[in-house]
Amino acid sequence: MEISRIVESLKDQDWYEGQIEHLELLPERKAEYGQANFDERIKSFLERKGLDLFSHQSRAIKLINEGRDVIITTPTASGKTLAFNVPVFDRMLNDSDSRALYIYPTKALSQDQLETIKDMEADLGLDLEPRVYDGDTPRDQRPGIRKRSRIILTNPYGLHHYLEWHHKWKDFFSNLDFVIMDEIHSYRGVFGSNVAMLVRRMERIFDHYGSDPQFILSSATIANPLEHSRKLVGREFSLISEDSSFRGRKKFLFWNPLTNPDNSAHNQTSKLMAHFVNHDLQTLCFTLSRRLAELISEWCSGRTDAPVRAYRAGYRPEERREIEEGLRTGEIRGVSATNALELGVDIGGLDAVIISGYPGTITSSWQQAGRAGRGREDSLVVLVGFENPLDQFFLKHPREFFDREHEHAILDLDNPNITMGHLACAATELPIREGEDLRQTYSGEIDALIDNDVVQDTPNGAVFSGTYRASGAVKLDNINETTVKIIHNGKLLETMDLAQAYREAHENATLLHQGKTYIVKDFDLEEGVAEVRWKEVDYFTQAISESDLEITRQLEKKKAGDVVVSFGEVSVSEHYSHYKEKKYDRVLDVHPLELPPLEFDTECSWFHVPESILTNVEEKGLGARGGLHAIEHAIISLTPFYAMCDRWDIGGFSARNPLEEGGSIFIYDAYEGGIGIADEVYELLENLLERTYELVMDCDCEEGCPSCIYSPKCGNDNDPLDKEAAVYILEKLGERFVY
Ligand SMILES: [Zn+2]
Ligand SMILES: [Zn+2]
Repeated sequence: MEISRIVESLKDQDWYEGQIEHLELLPERKAEYGQANFDERIKSFLERKGLDLFSHQSRAIKLINEGRDVIITTPTASGKTLAFNVPVFDRMLNDSDSRALYIYPTKALSQDQLETIKDMEADLGLDLEPRVYDGDTPRDQRPGIRKRSRIILTNPYGLHHYLEWHHKWKDFFSNLDFVIMDEIHSYRGVFGSNVAMLVRRMERIFDHYGSDPQFILSSATIANPLEHSRKLVGREFSLISEDSSFRGRKKFLFWNPLTNPDNSAHNQTSKLMAHFVNHDLQTLCFTLSRRLAELISEWCSGRTDAPVRAYRAGYRPEERREIEEGLRTGEIRGVSATNALELGVDIGGLDAVIISGYPGTITSSWQQAGRAGRGREDSLVVLVGFENPLDQFFLKHPREFFDREHEHAILDLDNPNITMGHLACAATELPIREGEDLRQTYSGEIDALIDNDVVQDTPNGAVFSGTYRASGAVKLDNINETTVKIIHNGKLLETMDLAQAYREAHENATLLHQGKTYIVKDFDLEEGVAEVRWKEVDYFTQAISESDLEITRQLEKKKAGDVVVSFGEVSVSEHYSHYKEKKYDRVLDVHPLELPPLEFDTECSWFHVPESILTNVEEKGLGARGGLHAIEHAIISLTPFYAMCDRWDIGGFSARNPLEEGGSIFIYDAYEGGIGIADEVYELLENLLERTYELVMDCDCEEGCPSCIYSPKCGNDNDPLDKEAAVYILEKLGERFVY
C-alpha cells in the first residue's frame, strides 16, 4: 500500500482522536555527480561497486588532495565515509609508509567502520592490517598492531590513556598522514571540551615525532561547523556542507498523543509501529531510554506476527550485528532502538521511522529521520511529541522545526576544571616548553599547577611531578567533581555526581534502579558513599531546595531594546532543607534534611525586569515572583532549542528585588566553571525570549502545565508559578526588546 494511504488509514483506527497535528511533504531531490583525480585502482574499485561520486564527495576529495583540513557535514547516508576513505586509500596505495588514525566516539562505531575499511582493503588487494585498538584489544596483540597496522581505529577514551606511552607508537605517529574524526557533533559540552584538550595533547606528540597529519572531520548538520572544528582541533577548516546525493520523497508527520489522554504516548508509539509493520513498512522507532526501547518492541510484538526487536547499547556485539544484518536484509521488520542506532552504523534505509519523543536537538531529529528512505521509494517519518515544553512547542509551530537552523555545538577551552587536568597529562607526556602554544595559551593555569606541586619547572620545560597518574584523574565525560557510590549488599549499584546524590541519595530517599525501588539507609558525604536497601514502597521522595546566587564578576553587558542583559561569573549555593514523601501528586509527609549547602562557581547570563512592569502585575492581583519563576523555567526548557545541551545542564534563579527595583532572571551553567551555555544564552537572549513568549502564550492550559512552565527539575517543587503574570511580563518585555 502507498505511504499516503497508510497514513490515511491511521484515521480509521479506534484510537485515533485527531493526533495528526501536521503533515510536511519533503520533495524528491536529484543527485549531482562530480569528478576527482585519484589512482586508477580506486577508479576501478568504485566501478566494481557501482559507485558514482556525488559532487560533494568529489569536492571533498579535491580539497583533501590539496592538503587542506576538511570538515564534511552532509546528512546520514550521503556517503561521508567514502569521501574520506578514497583519499586515504589513494595515499596508502602510493606511499607504503603512510598511516591513518580513525577516531570514533564509541567502540561500536569503530567496529562497524572496520568492516567497511576491510572490505575496501581486500577489494584493492592491499595489505594495511586495519585494526581496532581500544580497551577490548587483547594486550598481547597491541604491540603488533602499533607496529604493523597502517590504519588504526580507536576512541577518545582509549587515546587519553595511550598518549602517555607515545614512545611505543613512534612508528605509527611519525608516519601519520591523516587523522579522521567522525561524528564530531557528539564532541560537545563537557565531553567535547575534554576531547578538544585531548586533541591538543595529540598534536604536540605528532609534532614531537615530526609529523603533521591532515585532519578530516565529519559531523551531522550543526549551525557552526567551522567554528566547532576550529575549537575542537585548533586549526582553520574547509567546509563541505551541500548534499548532492539522491533523496526520495518523504512524508513527515507530527503526532500529538495528548489529544487521546486515555492512551499513553508510549502505548500510541507501539500502536503506530505495529500499524506500519502490519502494512509492510520496515520501521525503526527511536526511543528516549533503554527501558522504552525494550517495552515498545515488546508491546509492538503483541500486535503483529512480523519479527520485531529491540536494540540498545549494552547488547553483546554479536547480538547487535545480527539485528543490523536483519535490518539490512529486510528479515527483521521492526526495531525499537535508543539513539545507539542514530550514529553511522550501517543498516541500510528503512520505509518508516518513528521518533518517539523529541530527541533534544534538531540535529538528532534529522539524523534519525535520515534513516528513512531507500532508493527511489517514498518514506515516512513520524515525530511523537511528549508532554513537555519543547515537544509541544514544535507540534504547535512546525515551521520552527522545518525551517530553522540546527543548534550550535558548544565547547569550552577556558574552564580550568577541564583544562588543568589535561595540562597535567600533557606535562606527563612531554615537557611543556617555553614558547609552545600550550604554554602561551594556558600560562596562568600552568603557573597554578607549579604552585600546587603538580608540575615542576625544569630547564627542559614544565614536567609532571604529582604522586598520582595524571590521566587517571581526568574523566572525559565528566567535570572533575565528587562522585557518590551507591552500594547495595556490599556491591556497587551505580555512581552519581554530588548534585544528583543530594536529590536522590540523601538519607531515606527512594532510589529507582532498573525498575526496582531502594531506600537509602545511610549517606556518608565525606566518604562519598550511600548504602541502600531493596524495599518496595508505594511512595517516592523528593528533595526540596532553595537556591542562592551571588554575582562575583560581570564580564559583559549589552542593551537589548532598553533592557540590560549581562554575562559573568556567579557563585551558586543550593540549600537542601527538607524532603517530601509523595504518592502521585499527594504529599504524605515532610521531613527535614541536614546537609551542608552545595556550592559552585559558574558562568551566568542575566537580565533585569523593570519595576514598572512588576508593579502593574501586582496591581492586577497577579504574582510577580510566580511570573518571574515561570519565565525562568520556560527559558530553561527552550535553551536546548539553540545550544546543544539538555535542560539538566542548565540552572536558573529568579528574584523579585527589594526596594522596588524590579526583578532579575538568571540562567547559569549547571557545571562548576561553566561549559559555554550561558554565554550562548547571552548572545541569543532576544530570540530566546520571543520563543518563550510564544510557548507560554500558545499553551492551552489555564494555570501552567508540564508543556509550558512546569519544570521536572525545579528545586522548589514548582512553587510559586503564575502563568498569567508570566504572559503579561513577557508581553511588556517584548515591547521593550522589540520582538
Ligand atoms: Zn501549559
Ligand atoms: Zn523552579
